[in-house]
Amino acid sequence: MKYYPAFLKLEGEKVVFSGAGDHAAAKIKLLLKTEADILVVGEDPSDTVLAWAKDGRLTLAQREIQICDAFGARLVYGANDEPEADARAVAFGKKAGALTNIVDNLEASEFLTPAIVDRDPVVIAIGTEGTAPVLARKVKSEIEEMLPTSTGTLALIANSFRPMATRLKSSTERRAFWKRFFFADGPKALAEGGTEAVENTLLTLYNDAQSDMPKTGHADLIGTGPGDPELLTLKARRKLHEADVVLHDRLVTPEILELARREATVICVGKQGYGPSWKQEDINALLVEHVRKGHIVARLKSGDAAIFGRLDEEIDALEASNLSWEVVPGITSASAAAASIGASLTRRGRNSSLRFLTGRDVDGFAEHEWKALAKDGSTAAIYMGVNASRFLAGRLLMHGANAATPITIVENASRIDQRVIATTLANLTADIDSAMIEGPAIIFLGIAPRRINTATLAHATTLAATGA
Ligand code: SAH
Repeated sequence: MKYYPAFLKLEGEKVVFSGAGDHAAAKIKLLLKTEADILVVGEDPSDTVLAWAKDGRLTLAQREIQICDAFGARLVYGANDEPEADARAVAFGKKAGALTNIVDNLEASEFLTPAIVDRDPVVIAIGTEGTAPVLARKVKSEIEEMLPTSTGTLALIANSFRPMATRLKSSTERRAFWKRFFFADGPKALAEGGTEAVENTLLTLYNDAQSDMPKTGHADLIGTGPGDPELLTLKARRKLHEADVVLHDRLVTPEILELARREATVICVGKQGYGPSWKQEDINALLVEHVRKGHIVARLKSGDAAIFGRLDEEIDALEASNLSWEVVPGITSASAAAASIGASLTRRGRNSSLRFLTGRDVDGFAEHEWKALAKDGSTAAIYMGVNASRFLAGRLLMHGANAATPITIVENASRIDQRVIATTLANLTADIDSAMIEGPAIIFLGIAPRRINTATLAHATTLAATGA
């Protein structure tokens, strides 16, 4: 480690910039986040710097830097983007006993300015000793995603409560209290009722922690999208990371489950056509049991939680036990499948409505409004339709659908093994049989692919069977 990270107290301290153009402005912007007194010296200030000076956020001297500018300064930046002028500024800074830095010149600097994730007062500095700025940016964006914007506000409120929290009996209790506050109840209270609600939540959690009553848990019913972890929402990702217990459907991919904490208990409660499968009542019971034990439970469902996800049954079970829950929406597989073929699900002049259908329901093959579906221009995204394709095609043709109606089947949408089969209603059954589909698939009625998007799918195989 050539550089040692430390946080410098700049409250009321003098920071000097030699240079007032755009090159300087990018760094000044960061320093403006602090409570330093900023002096900018430069003959040709940019509009941004002028505006900051006008707003009284810094002092601007429109001239060349002089040694007296550096007196009493903590930091002196050479930000002229001109080697001679920067060297002069740094020499003045050193004479005045300040730490010096030439912007974008690590060799000539005594310290470096890291990439920063700002959740003031929580601040994360990322440095690569100048070796890999791209990596620093990547790490920064990952951390930005991980830390909700409320983190800073929560930390501020938590600070005032810290003396009281020290009265909790053990360090384990204190840790559990703060974990609960920062990752579950605090963000929720802030979103729903602002800072006042957060303060009340702290009190409630404190009283809970002090009483010997069992803690109550919480369930997040989370849609995890079609499989690609990049298609998770930030909220889903955060909640998954916070969970003590993860109950997931079979279609939730291993890459997504990877995002759970290592200590979390992960249970597959998948239902499938063959092999052992979970009954809905058993899933409900397990969900309730864990929340009752005081756990934060992430109930992961593929796609969107509210589409063919038996969401209501699980919410009913939680409500019946008076337990806390929240739904986190996800990208449904029809949206991902449409994106992968560059198709729009609604189109002016073609269809002004779109149906989400299931091929199967509790009684077997599902019945629908076939007459309306058979009309020209009608469109539908059919879930769980592969095994029902003969039935679907038969019903539609019987109700007068055009045999040439385009049909697109997207198997494993958004995953590396995605396949697209473009066909027609007349050839649907034959093409499905010969494609031997094993993964989850969406069948689009009335939608043809515009193009098959494999750009993001490094190893994807695509099959375009247009039928005979
Ligand atoms: N809640 C889910 C649907 C669950 S029902 C959602 O919103 O997507 C299960 C069905 O979803 C599967 O039979 C299949 O039709 C569809 N499905 C789920 N993931 C899929 C994927 N990656 N590609 C294509 N279809 C998928």
